[in-house]
Amino acid sequence: MNTALVWFRSDLRLTDNPALTAALRQGASLIPVYICDSRHPGKWQPGGASRWWLHHSLVALDASLRARGSRLILRHGDPLAVLSALIAETGATGVFWNRCYEPYAIRRDEEIKRSLRTTDCVVESFNGSLLREPWEIKKADGGAYRVFTQYWKTLQKLEIPAPLPAPDSLPPCPPQLTSDTLASWNLLPTKPDWAGGLRTTWQVGEAAAAARLDGFLQCTLKGYDDNRNRPDRAGTSGLSPHLHFGEISPRTVLHRSRLATAAAEGLAYDGDKFLSEIAWREFSYTLLWQFPDLPETPLRPEFSAFPWVDDADGLGRWQRGETGYPIVDAGMRQLWHTGWMHNRVRMIAASFLIKDLLIPWQAGQAWFWDTLVDADLASNAASWQWVAGCGADAAPYFRVFNPVLQGEKFDPDGTYVRRWVPELADTPTPFVHRPWEAPPMLRPRGYPAPMVDHAAARDRALAAFARIRGKG
Ligand code: FAD
Repeated sequence: MNTALVWFRSDLRLTDNPALTAALRQGASLIPVYICDSRHPGKWQPGGASRWWLHHSLVALDASLRARGSRLILRHGDPLAVLSALIAETGATGVFWNRCYEPYAIRRDEEIKRSLRTTDCVVESFNGSLLREPWEIKKADGGAYRVFTQYWKTLQKLEIPAPLPAPDSLPPCPPQLTSDTLASWNLLPTKPDWAGGLRTTWQVGEAAAAARLDGFLQCTLKGYDDNRNRPDRAGTSGLSPHLHFGEISPRTVLHRSRLATAAAEGLAYDGDKFLSEIAWREFSYTLLWQFPDLPETPLRPEFSAFPWVDDADGLGRWQRGETGYPIVDAGMRQLWHTGWMHNRVRMIAASFLIKDLLIPWQAGQAWFWDTLVDADLASNAASWQWVAGCGADAAPYFRVFNPVLQGEKFDPDGTYVRRWVPELADTPTPFVHRPWEAPPMLRPRGYPAPMVDHAAARDRALAAFARIRGKG
């Protein structure tokens, strides 16, 4: 009797899971496995918030498998050794997984494929995380896109396969097969337990992802183009951690969105805008695939000579949300509390770190990596490089976000900053984004003065940029 292993990684779902579908076709018996990779090099191991999410996502995946008659086998170790041991234990003749695109994962998976294929095992990998493979979308001359709008135009012309259904039932997993306990992996914070805000903010797992998409399409898609820039409104989908962990596939998001926009009047524009944001995720993966050093090295070489400042105190104030600029501080505190930050505010907070403080973008990227529940090597690196002005299709370096004007434009009543910076609760709206200008009686107590003068900091940033201009 055939036995197939399905190695779950960034695809913690049963719906639209091509590796699972292929394994079911091949195997009369199925072993779903998740491996805690002990060989992963230190850098870019999941951060604290990602580990919290992973724990709960594995619980949810195991429950879905059990509801269909199977269960999730957890093993810790070198993935090749773990898979080889499972093959020996079960007599499996096939190993199936959906591809990951992080440089380390690509190298690891190639090695595992080569090694297992020297045995009689069938080893197959699939695209379960992207609308199209990064190598499939090329310019007419065969080169890779570095400009998003052109990339998006090409992607829109390509056919995207329909999502695969989830299996109704699964063959049982052999009872003698041992599994680690999830608790033994220590993914949850204990001393201290800082995850209270994450618990109250998120429902984790495939069912929660599907419900979130439904709710978004029914209630939030209309007006998305306007509302997506407003941190004071619930104007976006909140799907990013679900997409990152593969609890929902981008194919499912695309198909369900297209159905929703076709079924109702007046949704087409917002629907296109939403899908173009999904495409930014795809574009980021294409960049990481082309430039494996994306998280470390600026795509524009002249930025390697940028005169960054070594400022541990400034970095700490930014991380804690104590810069004295309300929109920046609100974002950083939202991030710490919920593991997520609104996209507009991510741009403002990142710009402040890089341009007002001249702290290297890599330091901000590392903090986001540890604290975001949607921390994603491709999207995080591409976005930080974009804000820094050193990436593909990047915002020009001289575009320095003014945190006061941005706050007043996108959070005009101060609802967002008051929510995350309680010191500003009683500050009148005209001063809520510039509290230092309030009459002394109305100044917020316990809230810091701005740590830098933005106008002076902007001049300093532009002068620093002028020093590297033309050095590429
Ligand atoms: P929606 O507006 O509902 O968008 C739908 C989906 O499209 C998102 O879930 C996400 O998968 C994708 N998306 C939207 N905007 C972008 C974008 N600019 N780049 C790539 N994908 C996008 N996103 C991550 O998923 N992980 C990260 O680690 C990450 N780091 C970022 C760092 C910085 C400095 C900045 C400026 C942006 C970063 N983003 C990252 C992109 C973006 O902020 C989030 O994807 C978005 O805020 C998620 O919220 P949402 O799901 O409600 O988005």
